Amino acid sequence: MRDLQDQYGRSFKTLRVSLINTCNLGCVYCTMADTDTKVSNHHQKTNISASELLRIIGYLHQELNLETIRLTGGEPLLYHDLIPVVAGIKAMGIDEIKLTTNGFLLERMAFKLHKAGMKSINVSLDAINEDVFFKMSKRSDVGRILKGIKTSIDCGLDVKLNAVIMKGMNEDQIFPLLDYAFENNIQIRFLEVMAMGHLYKQSEKYLFTQHDILNAIASRYNFERLDRKASATSNYWKTKEGHVFGVIANESEPFCGDCNRLRLDSQGNIFGCLSDNHPINIRVIDDTLELRQKLKLALAQKQTVRFVGSELSMLEIGG
Ligand code: SF4
Repeated sequence: MRDLQDQYGRSFKTLRVSLINTCNLGCVYCTMADTDTKVSNHHQKTNISASELLRIIGYLHQELNLETIRLTGGEPLLYHDLIPVVAGIKAMGIDEIKLTTNGFLLERMAFKLHKAGMKSINVSLDAINEDVFFKMSKRSDVGRILKGIKTSIDCGLDVKLNAVIMKGMNEDQIFPLLDYAFENNIQIRFLEVMAMGHLYKQSEKYLFTQHDILNAIASRYNFERLDRKASATSNYWKTKEGHVFGVIANESEPFCGDCNRLRLDSQGNIFGCLSDNHPINIRVIDDTLELRQKLKLALAQKQTVRFVGSELSMLEIGG
């Protein structure tokens, strides 16, 4: 679909699919207050079936010639039909199939994922220290996630780490995470906290900025900035020793200007922007013209400058 482009030259090339709106962790920046101590039973709406999901993805691919599909959640490894969905996307001729996971179920899933066509995974890991990990996620057993990461690398999956750094919560984990990543030759990206869900309008108190993160790392390493790739969310730096790390600076260095991301939730709604809470339902569409109109609406949802926050939880839309 050649005409789907906004006045800034933006179109949709990456589809992020939230497969499921439940999770087996209760992270502070996603579902839980920092004073909660247990993972609660999150409400679950009925998700669309895997075959319906593949039909919608196929339809979107026909219109948009998608380059990348990232599967998210909630926690996508809890999605029962994950492997058939990965294989179905691969069969559409899309090679860049990626996943964002908390890694809890990764050890037993990594081989199957790779075999089905998964190329790379981002593992969310906000602490190496067990107590801090519990404070951040309300679950224990970092070792289980590290085993999942090792198995994934051994299987041939490209692995990156994502660590949300929150002021007063886990900024002391920057070096333990960096040491682990450097020792194991894994690329790590630190993320600024986002004003989403229950942190909408109150993320400021937790904001540990890109500047803060770089300042901390500079106390031990010399590094220089690398060029940013088009439509990338992360800025990257390379240390004198040759290690690369990134910062996803949603707040202090927004990246709306060349954003190419479209989101599909587990109910068959698309969102053109993470800042927009208005779902556009494409579940029952089987007319190309109508789909194009809805995609135009989604494109018009994009912010021009920066993410402005959203009441939608990451559990619903995948962050
Ligand atoms: S706020 Fe919207 S336009 Fe900006 S980067 Fe996020 S999804 Fe893209």
